[in-house]
Amino acid sequence: MKTMQEREPRYDILFEPVRIGPLTARNRFYQVPHCNGMGYLRPKTLAAMRGMKAEGGWAVVCTEEVEIHPTSDNGSAAEGRLWDDEDIPALAAMTEAVHHHGALAGIELVHGGYSNANHYSRIPPIAPSVSSVNSYDPVQARAMNKSDIRNFRKWHRQAVLRAIQAEFDLVYVYAGHNLTLLMHFLSRRFNQRSDEYGGSLENRVRLFREVLEETREVAGDRCAVAVRFAVDELLGPKGITSENEGREVIEMLAELPDLWDVNISDWENDSATSRFEKEGYQESYISFVKSLTSKPVVGVGRYTSPDAMVSLIQRGVVDMIGAARPSIADPFLPKKIEEGRLDEIRECIGCNICVAGDWLSVPMRCTQNPTMGEEWRRGWHPEKIEPRKSRDGVLVVGAGPAGLECSVALGKRGYRVVLAEASEELGGRVSRESRLPGLSEWIRVRDHRLLLLEKMENVSIYQGSELSASDIIEFSSEDSFAFSHVFIAAGSIWRKDGLGREHREPIPGLEQMEVMTPDDLMNGAPAKGKVVIFDDDHYYMGGILAEKLRLEGYEVLLVTPAPDISTWTHQTMEQGRIQARLLELGVELAPQKSLTSVHRGEVEVSCVFTGRLSRHACETLVLVTERLPRDGLYHDLTALGSELENAGIRTLECIGDCLAPGTIAAAVHSGHLAARGFESENNEEVLFLRERIAIRHSA
Ligand code: ADP
Ligand code: SF4
Repeated sequence: MKTMQEREPRYDILFEPVRIGPLTARNRFYQVPHCNGMGYLRPKTLAAMRGMKAEGGWAVVCTEEVEIHPTSDNGSAAEGRLWDDEDIPALAAMTEAVHHHGALAGIELVHGGYSNANHYSRIPPIAPSVSSVNSYDPVQARAMNKSDIRNFRKWHRQAVLRAIQAEFDLVYVYAGHNLTLLMHFLSRRFNQRSDEYGGSLENRVRLFREVLEETREVAGDRCAVAVRFAVDELLGPKGITSENEGREVIEMLAELPDLWDVNISDWENDSATSRFEKEGYQESYISFVKSLTSKPVVGVGRYTSPDAMVSLIQRGVVDMIGAARPSIADPFLPKKIEEGRLDEIRECIGCNICVAGDWLSVPMRCTQNPTMGEEWRRGWHPEKIEPRKSRDGVLVVGAGPAGLECSVALGKRGYRVVLAEASEELGGRVSRESRLPGLSEWIRVRDHRLLLLEKMENVSIYQGSELSASDIIEFSSEDSFAFSHVFIAAGSIWRKDGLGREHREPIPGLEQMEVMTPDDLMNGAPAKGKVVIFDDDHYYMGGILAEKLRLEGYEVLLVTPAPDISTWTHQTMEQGRIQARLLELGVELAPQKSLTSVHRGEVEVSCVFTGRLSRHACETLVLVTERLPRDGLYHDLTALGSELENAGIRTLECIGDCLAPGTIAAAVHSGHLAARGFESENNEEVLFLRERIAIRHSA
């Protein structure tokens, strides 16, 4: 591996210290608050993850939103919580980890107002005016009276005091993402008050200003005060816009905070995926802010390119480079730029698998960074790995995400690795899938790993090498690359019989139809005539193939038993955009319908509720249902029994999609896990540490 180098002087500007009120940030890298599925439920997991960012060189490392009172209770979501003094130690664990590595710790205090249904506390939510909560829960928020407003201000002051006790350096006043009471007061949509807190913008800003001033007062010289504010809601005149009220609010409060952290609302817009928005997508909304304040400004936009970052600073768009996802994909991004190791940066691909972890209330995971969320429970470090235990050679079959990651991690450990790939192209499914509309950034999963592998003398890659069981036996003892361990990362294939969640037996009549799978289409086979896609997979594939085929001029009908199109993409916050795009393109959508039978020139579908049948013209049927592990090679090898042992092959393991088809993130994690676990003590009983609620038995 390449060792530390000098960084190029053009990046020096990124390492200038920045004054934030009474504090100094060591450089311009700022990890903005972001959710993570750890929160108050998993404080050790959280502290280790945040500490890793500090170790990786971020100057400021913030929490996720931290609720300040039981009138703002996010139910089962694993967010931060600072309701009373008992909550301080869990957060102090994070500040300790962040300070240990020389970074400043920020806390994003939140009162969620009508955004929280308060399922746990059972206290009616509060809002500027009467309003239903912003989920489909049968809960309405009550309008706050003057004493509620006084109480809210008191809770915020108390939370600031507790944040100081937990040793935070920056305290946030948060009016963003349409997720906070302060933003609800600002918004004409939710504030219909007729007192001094409603009506004119000045009145709607009043509470924001009061809380900001009081936070300053309590924080004194001990803490800096940051404001997170959404300058545009992308709702046009119905919402806050950067031309009108977004701008006016900044003008009104310009010098009050020590730092402005500005973005667009809501969270779906702020964290748009690469399928819909490219690096820097927020710049045009936030670029006016710096002209209105002398205080440092932070902005985000999925920045992974150091040159783009330098340009932002030089052009005076922001003072600090804000990042959530780029810091998740590579906690060591600042260090790598600082040390001139640009080719080692693990760039975010903008897939929002991290966001899905948060929605599912489990520690977030990352497609690019398999160690994310595993820092505490498995003790994984994104840049360090245990050295090899022996001089044994390892064969990895298949250079998709699992095989590439396994080879990188084994290579870093110092093992001699032979990576064999059947195809002339490396990358497996990411190479194919990154050619689908909007997914070009996904190729970073392959390219990052190839860049690392190229520098490893102990790893040899053989393309165009489809291996059979007898090849493996034959090659295992060849002098040039003898190996005694085999990892099979041969991936998976989409099945053609329609089996999946809806059908556990083949769909009747398939033989009468031209049937294609995602593999056929991605390999370039042309569809014929009117296309029907049956999506029983529910992630992106069915929807994106409909988009691809429609763009190529086909008439497309997309049938799915789910309530809406690509329904799992609610977890990645893409569903609305996907369905809108397909409708705009003229794809015919048939949600809540199952495919029941196939006939010459047509398919029969049924309503999932009533069973009512209808027929639709179809010349090509695309089945997006389930994948089968490509594990034939594994079974061929195990069938060899003692012949395998005689050839000196001592271990054999399937990894990635070949073990169990899943997300790319799961395949990368599987490859990494296998490499970490290789020749290390395996405790079958305790796979990873868990955070438990300690209950003492009384005698
Ligand atoms: P994963 O997501 O688990 O990494 P992929 O499907 O992306 O799986 O990649 C699997 C790779 O394995 C593909 O590039 C495929 O060409 C390759 N492969 C499959 N079978 C063999 C084989 N017998 N020999 C070499 N490479 C193989
Ligand atoms: Fe980026 Fe995807 Fe990782 Fe999230 S999961 S940080 S979007 S690569």
